[in-house]
Amino acid sequence: MKIATLTNPEEILITETTKPAAKENEIVIKVDYIGICGSDIHAYYGKHPFITCPITLGHEFVGRVVETGKGVKGVLPGELVTAIPQIFCHQCEPCRSGRYNICDTLKVIGCQTPGAACDYFAFDASLVKKIPKGMPKEIAATIEPAAVGVHAVHRGADVKGKNVVVMGAGTIGNLTAQAALAEGAKQVLITDLSDYRLEVARECGISQIANTGKVSVEIAMKQAFQGDKADIFFECVGIGATVNQAIELSKKGHDIVVVGVFGNRPEINMSLVQDKELRLIGSLMYVEKDYDRTIDLMNRGMIHTKPLISKTFELADYAKAFRYIEEHKDSSLKVLIQVSE
Ligand SMILES: [Zn+2]
Ligand SMILES: [Zn+2]
Repeated sequence: MKIATLTNPEEILITETTKPAAKENEIVIKVDYIGICGSDIHAYYGKHPFITCPITLGHEFVGRVVETGKGVKGVLPGELVTAIPQIFCHQCEPCRSGRYNICDTLKVIGCQTPGAACDYFAFDASLVKKIPKGMPKEIAATIEPAAVGVHAVHRGADVKGKNVVVMGAGTIGNLTAQAALAEGAKQVLITDLSDYRLEVARECGISQIANTGKVSVEIAMKQAFQGDKADIFFECVGIGATVNQAIELSKKGHDIVVVGVFGNRPEINMSLVQDKELRLIGSLMYVEKDYDRTIDLMNRGMIHTKPLISKTFELADYAKAFRYIEEHKDSSLKVLIQVSE
């Protein structure tokens, strides 16, 4: 079978290797699609602090079961599945309280252990999630990033009936905004500097959009919420400027959920955080209940990922896909790799 390895930054080698056999509690799938995400892009350019070469990437994937190990129950060959790509210890304090997304020794499949950028991929059956009948494979490949958005929405105060601002309309911002709407937010305003990303947000059903290169967040909020203020902010950019804007514009005593990944260490206006009794809440990946909720919401048409899929490449063109993303930074969102037909 074919396997793609990021051997050095900007160097992907596709080689032949032996197809894996299912161990006792493992499932082997024939991989259909993998998604490329922000962390893959950082890894590709050698800029991810926790991913080192050589590595087979691919933590967003979908495929058909071809083999199950002796101990595996309830999953059959032929079924379309994905997996929660988290390997955790079950013993540390976060794990014991069910927060294994922040396990002290968390390993992410495709980041710290080999991922699914190969024809056949084996993983522990405890991580498997079945794809509902009728959900297209390429849509199923986007469950993982959607779960990031759903988890973020579950991290802050209940969004039901609330005015929500999502800063950043990239894949995660878009999906966070959709998740907020799906969980009953009254109004969701999404902001970005790219009209392309905002148009995709609109296509996904987020009607309140604002290009903050043209209008201030404050004015956009007034228009979106009929003069009212935002009850909760989601920072999905990962820069100090947007965090500080959220801190300044937040109502007193409310939540700011920090979802963006920060390349630099910004200066944050902590005096206002203290004075307004704000809560800055971090959000990382997801746990199983977020995954189940995501699959359910996507299956019921409450979260749409089709407009987010900008382009699909074949595995042979994996490196081209990374170059495409680099060249289309402001005009592409999710890029998929079709591994097999
Ligand atoms: Zn991802
Ligand atoms: Zn743990």
